Amino acid sequence: MPTQRSGRKNPVSYTELFVGAHISRMGQQMLRYDLHSHSTASDGTVSPTELIRHAAAQGVDVLALTDHDATTGLAEAEQAAGEAGVTLVPGVEISVTWVHQLLHIVGLGIDPHNAALQRGLEGLREFRVWRAEEIGRRLEKRGIAGVYEGARALAQGPSIGRTHFARFLVAQGLAKDVQNAFDKYLKRSKPGYVPGKWASLNEAVDWIRAAGGQAVIAHPARYTLSASRFRDLLSEFKEVGGVGLEVISGSHPNGATLALSNYAQRYELLASVGSDYHGPGQSRNELGSLPDLPAGCIPVWTEWDVGSRPTAPITQ
Ligand code: AMP
Ligand code: MN
Ligand code: MN
Ligand code: MN
Repeated sequence: MPTQRSGRKNPVSYTELFVGAHISRMGQQMLRYDLHSHSTASDGTVSPTELIRHAAAQGVDVLALTDHDATTGLAEAEQAAGEAGVTLVPGVEISVTWVHQLLHIVGLGIDPHNAALQRGLEGLREFRVWRAEEIGRRLEKRGIAGVYEGARALAQGPSIGRTHFARFLVAQGLAKDVQNAFDKYLKRSKPGYVPGKWASLNEAVDWIRAAGGQAVIAHPARYTLSASRFRDLLSEFKEVGGVGLEVISGSHPNGATLALSNYAQRYELLASVGSDYHGPGQSRNELGSLPDLPAGCIPVWTEWDVGSRPTAPITQ
């Protein structure tokens, strides 16, 4: 498992990190990183074991499992990772409300046994259950019966979410695909949209740091923020102890990378890379099939120790 330095315990300057990143680029064989993915512990369609085996088959060396508001897939993933020769980075994707905007903050290298983190995630999952019932009630009023039960049956883990509703609506023939189900029923201002208060930015970063992890803003190009609000977000995120920005994401629109790389450098944030894989046929991007970070970015893994991992994947 990578040992990581959180900003709080080991204050290493951005310049030192830059030099370190440069040396490791010169001296090491480049590993393939994918630091954002989902399993059946939240809204992915594959189990943690299947996810890890698929990552190995895709040539991923270092994979982060980052389920929504849940870490329950990590134990199984760790076991499978040992067998498959993949290095697992224990992660989580935390739902945050920041100035009326829903944001996702990824935590990388967390200790899933940390009590503060688990208390926080537990609260978010309780809200998810209430919200799921409320989505069910709202859609019921629109004449769609049994939606809550249907979504519940599709959610195999503790973190029920809108994707489970979307898949149920597709299975019922009420939407042509998951995207269409969001567009018709589940997006903001649609009948099944239930606004809610998730974690604050400060809380999410605190929980991640308490668990020894690094906080990274997930898929920043997906939020509909003006440039000035985005700058406010980056400043506030830094102030509360956030360290990274997903410069490359499988869920980004094309052409987002360069601007994000510039923001990462200007705000002295480390750069992360993640497919946001949710299972075969569920996401635009395959596990691990992501472009390299632009030169000048400092990878979030610069100080991770993944050199001693086993290198030969077990073929099955
Ligand atoms: P939730 O956390 O339950 O509100 O669900 C958020 C998840 O729904 C995201 O992580 C995506 O997997 C999925 N999602 C959100 N918006 C869309 C959309 N417009 N189309 C398809 N999937 C979406
Ligand atoms: Mn998701
Ligand atoms: Mn997300
Ligand atoms: Mn995600």
